[in-house]
Amino acid sequence: MLSMATQQNALTTIGFDADDTLWQNEQFFRMTERHFAELLSAHVEKEHLLERLLEAERRNLGAYGFGIKGFTLSMIETAIDVTGGTVPSELIGKILAAGREMLSHPIETLPHVHDTLEALAGRYRLVLITKGDLFDQERKLAQSGLGDFFHAVEIVSDKSRPTYQRIFARHGDGAEHAMMVGNSLKSDVVPAIEAGSWGVFIPHELTWVIEHVEAPTAAPRFREIGHLGELPALLSEISNSGRTS
Ligand SMILES: [Mg+2]
Repeated sequence: MLSMATQQNALTTIGFDADDTLWQNEQFFRMTERHFAELLSAHVEKEHLLERLLEAERRNLGAYGFGIKGFTLSMIETAIDVTGGTVPSELIGKILAAGREMLSHPIETLPHVHDTLEALAGRYRLVLITKGDLFDQERKLAQSGLGDFFHAVEIVSDKSRPTYQRIFARHGDGAEHAMMVGNSLKSDVVPAIEAGSWGVFIPHELTWVIEHVEAPTAAPRFREIGHLGELPALLSEISNSGRTS
């Protein structure tokens, strides 16, 4: 029989990041950055251009939020800056086209994602928690074919401790009974652990520099796995250790 303490620790709800956790995303930004650098190669070195672009993106995050539309505006702003205001309108048109193309890129789910979500959907409440442009994230979820596995979808402007407390209270049994899984230590793992949840890090080879922070290796509820297919074994391990402690 389960003790009261065990029930109090039971994990009922799992939050999943979307971009570069369930499907490829960052590769489309890198591809567009390369194209952007080619468009402006007559004016500026690639490395310098991308530094300026990153500065613009950081500056604009508070106003535009995360996603492709903000990225496109930051590219235009950078093009104006590096050309001293002389960038031809034809080139601005090409930057806009590159941004629009990103909004229709095909969805490529990562290995093990479908099978793992299918296996867990009946046993846990699964919640998709993602930043980014609303229309774009809705489109990607619809095209991924993964929508039916989720009890709820939350497209948020930022991922912080209160975000996870609010979402896991609304869709689960509170943050202490929840786990967040994602490829960003800064957005998915650290604030979820601060909220009282488990934070599971699945590194992706391409992760935006703004999403990098130190791994919270000392936190008892921090775990790292190689891919999503390792999640069911981790969940068994956690529930078994809860039973014996
Ligand atoms: Mg991500």
